[in-house]
Amino acid sequence: MSSVTIQPQSYDYPAQNAAGITCTAQAWANVPPPLQATEKAAIVSRIKQLLKEKDAALVAHYYVDGDIQDLALETGGYVADSLEMARFGKNHSAKNLIVAGVRFMGETAKILSPEKRVFMPDLDATCSLDLGCDAKDFAKFRALHPDRVVVVYANTSAAVKAQADWMVTSSCALAIVHQLKLDGKKILWAPDRHLGRYIQEQTGADMLLWNGACIVHDEFRAVELELLKASHPHAMVLVHPESPQAVVDLADVVGSTSAMIKAVVDGTATEYIVATDKGILHRMRQLAPNKKLIEAPTAGNSATCKSCAHCPWMAMNGLQGILNCLETSSGEIFVAEPIRLKALTCIERMLDFTKNHPDLLAKAQHGFVKNIGAA
Ligand code: SF4
Repeated sequence: MSSVTIQPQSYDYPAQNAAGITCTAQAWANVPPPLQATEKAAIVSRIKQLLKEKDAALVAHYYVDGDIQDLALETGGYVADSLEMARFGKNHSAKNLIVAGVRFMGETAKILSPEKRVFMPDLDATCSLDLGCDAKDFAKFRALHPDRVVVVYANTSAAVKAQADWMVTSSCALAIVHQLKLDGKKILWAPDRHLGRYIQEQTGADMLLWNGACIVHDEFRAVELELLKASHPHAMVLVHPESPQAVVDLADVVGSTSAMIKAVVDGTATEYIVATDKGILHRMRQLAPNKKLIEAPTAGNSATCKSCAHCPWMAMNGLQGILNCLETSSGEIFVAEPIRLKALTCIERMLDFTKNHPDLLAKAQHGFVKNIGAA
């Protein structure tokens, strides 16, 4: 019998230096090889057939390959940010969900829809925020601060969510934390330190922050962004709040992926500098074909390494992986029932809040939007 050697997953976050510097070049990812046109057409056709036959819906994040985003939309699935992915998967009638994104998105879908089978093209597709927030370490942190309301970002494992009072995404974090502050709550926040700092600044809430970061957004560089801005003086700068403060401070619009897309579609500028994973440009180009989109810089004199502003784990999603889910039931997500039930509470709390308080979300959105719109 042949033995299989599993390649260990190397990840550099625990080895980051004192300044919190990490490097996407050291993140491990098994990216599928590119497909020939005929091969791709055959796989797409087979996926379309099997999605129907197996009563399955394809849900994709804005950061995955454009072909997968197109396929999701063509087959009645969905392309969205993590908040809307979660809501769509929960409300859809399909018996099976194929989630093209990263691990926590598949887990969230399963937690919300235990009656559905949830599959992912590659179960090793994870997230530096998730990897950087171990459930046992987080439990110790939480135990030190029992007086605080625990708010965790969606980019965490089910085992961390099971310890939280609230789950939030970048679309609703500001509104929810603002409300908690009005209710007199002190907050324990995990895991993204940049998003946590930004929310703290915007809301004035008392927040203790876990020291996690997204290895993609952490690489955007303010010095190079300033130079780029100078050469495109009329461009509007859009920044995701997982980016470092110096980059956020240069933004015209700070917001979630959905908010950034809306800013491009609705904006009057003709040029936009975009500081988030470049996978989002595919949808932006489709929705605003006449706008010029410029990728924000991650390399240059002030950069610690060269990165491509593309998440190595999102890149692990491929058409062949989707076909494998449908043909062989590979990549199924399971969440232990005691963990699922505990994690469900904080996710449902978020979904209820966003459903019942569209006014607060809209108001908070103006907090994400600097220099345009109502203040
Ligand atoms: S882009 Fe960053 S936050 Fe998003 S999945 Fe990749 S590592 Fe995680």
